[in-house]
Amino acid sequence: MLNVGKIEEGFVLDHIKAGKSLSIYHHLQLDKLDCTVAIIKNAKSNKMGKKDILKVECDIDMLDLDILAFIDHNITVNVIKDGDIVAKKELLLPKEIKNVIRCKNPRCITSIEQELPHIFVLADEEKEIYRCKYCEEKYLERS
Ligand SMILES: [Zn+2]
Repeated sequence: MLNVGKIEEGFVLDHIKAGKSLSIYHHLQLDKLDCTVAIIKNAKSNKMGKKDILKVECDIDMLDLDILAFIDHNITVNVIKDGDIVAKKELLLPKEIKNVIRCKNPRCITSIEQELPHIFVLADEEKEIYRCKYCEEKYLERS
C-alpha cells in the first residue's frame, strides 16, 4: 500500500468508496480544521477493487463519527496513537442527524422557519431510510 507519511495521532479512514473521499473531507469539515490530511484516491483493494483512503492527523475527538456513519457505515475507522493502530471503530447508523442534510419538501416548516435545525431520524435501519423529523419527507439521495 502507498504510504503517505506516518501519522502519530489521528485516524485513517479506510474502505471509502472510490471517488467519495472528497465529499467526506467536506462533510467532516476537515477544510476548516488545522490538521494534516492525506487523501488517497483509487487505491487498490482486494475487497472493493478500488477504494479511497483518508489519513487525518489531529485530535481523535474532533472526528464526527455520526456524520461519517451516515455517509457510509462500511468505512473502517482506524484510530492511531503514537504511530500505531490502537483501535478500530465500528460505525453505526446514527438514530438522528442534525444539520447535515436539508429537507427538500417546499412545504416543510424548515423551509419557512429558517432558523430551525434540519433534523432527520432513522426511520428504517435495515433499508437505511431517513425521514425529516418535521414533515416525514424521505431523504433519497445519499451524498
Ligand atoms: Zn421536512
